[in-house]
Amino acid sequence: MQDTNITYDTLLTTIDQAAALLGLQEADYIMLKYPERALTVSIPVEMDHGGIQVFTGYRVQHSTSRGPCKGGLRYHPGVELDEVKAMAALMTLKCAVVNIPYGGAKGAVKVDPAALSRQELKRLTRRYTAMILPLIGPEKDIPAPDVGTNEEVMGWIMDTYSMFKGYTVPGIVTGKPLDIGGSLGRREATGRGVTLITRETLHRLGRPMLGTTVAIQGMGAVGGTTAKLLDLEGCKIVAVSDVSGGLYKRSGLDIPDILTYMQDHPGGFLSGYNGEGIKHITNEALLTLDTDILIPAALENQLTLDVAPRVRAKIIVEAANGPTTSDADRVFEQMGVIVVPDILVNAGGVVVSYFEWIQNIQSLTWDEEAVNRTLEQIMIRAFNEIWQAAARRGITLRLSAYMLAIDRVVKAKKIRGVFP
Ligand code: GLU
Repeated sequence: MQDTNITYDTLLTTIDQAAALLGLQEADYIMLKYPERALTVSIPVEMDHGGIQVFTGYRVQHSTSRGPCKGGLRYHPGVELDEVKAMAALMTLKCAVVNIPYGGAKGAVKVDPAALSRQELKRLTRRYTAMILPLIGPEKDIPAPDVGTNEEVMGWIMDTYSMFKGYTVPGIVTGKPLDIGGSLGRREATGRGVTLITRETLHRLGRPMLGTTVAIQGMGAVGGTTAKLLDLEGCKIVAVSDVSGGLYKRSGLDIPDILTYMQDHPGGFLSGYNGEGIKHITNEALLTLDTDILIPAALENQLTLDVAPRVRAKIIVEAANGPTTSDADRVFEQMGVIVVPDILVNAGGVVVSYFEWIQNIQSLTWDEEAVNRTLEQIMIRAFNEIWQAAARRGITLRLSAYMLAIDRVVKAKKIRGVFP
């Protein structure tokens, strides 16, 4: 994996471009360049074998203009505040693109979750939750899973917050286990959204799903579900990878078999998987394979100026947050590669988080069919708005998505005015 620190500048460049096209003055959108709040905490954890280790954690709230802050919690050894700030801003734009009533936030702890025992991870999560407690709440800021966290971690957050309040507060966090107020369809939501957007993109280009070749970087919650659903839709998944390396088979990989293997092996990695005709490749080799579609579904800054000219896919569907640097983006534009942007592609997760939160605060449950149907309506509406505006103005899909999002956030800011 390459350097995972996205610079805030990459994001600011696109915000400036989109704002200029919208005819905004700097005063209209300058507040978008700064997070409203950023909290850094030092989290002491009693380790299983004695001693205390102190971990650094963050919670950044980028915007509350359109509603409470919303965004995931990431556990990764490489996270820096600058990256969390950029991710929080991306959440503001993502929620605006799909028009759900949230602003953006992001949390992170600088830790390798695989290096901690389950009990250590639980103590870390509970202490982190206690330390960011004044900032969060169902009406203030609602965390969710992201890279390195899962349903179980969300359950610990929900319990810790509820213990402090003295009553159960399911709406404090989304992506929880079903038995404590999680939503049907949430686990697969991001991958389902990626699949829907891939389908709509191919449809607009007049191409079938059947036989379309796809390479997917990342086989976590997002990449794994995307692989499963695209395979079911008839795409040919020729390559997948995770931190342990990649697999490639020109005639198509057996995705159900790979997913079963990952489930059955400790750590859930691809390494050790073998099959007839499978070649083992690096993550970088996967990015430059000759496929119809490339789906980065891991970390940010994977498609850089160095890799971009060698990318042979004609369509890039950004399932990860911020996988393409702004330099690489320009190269793709010159090469005529269609880049479908992260803030649209991976919004399915936060959309179903929104459904989960609605169910929690209304104390009711939706069936899975209602979740998936409403998700599809929202994703397709956003896709059509972005695609049509891009075609009309002759701009990239990313600029079009940023314009749609910034317009909505700036309108909300203008109506509310600057306090005091
Ligand atoms: N972490 C996910 C994202 O980056 C989901 C956030 C949420 O559901 O609040 O979109």
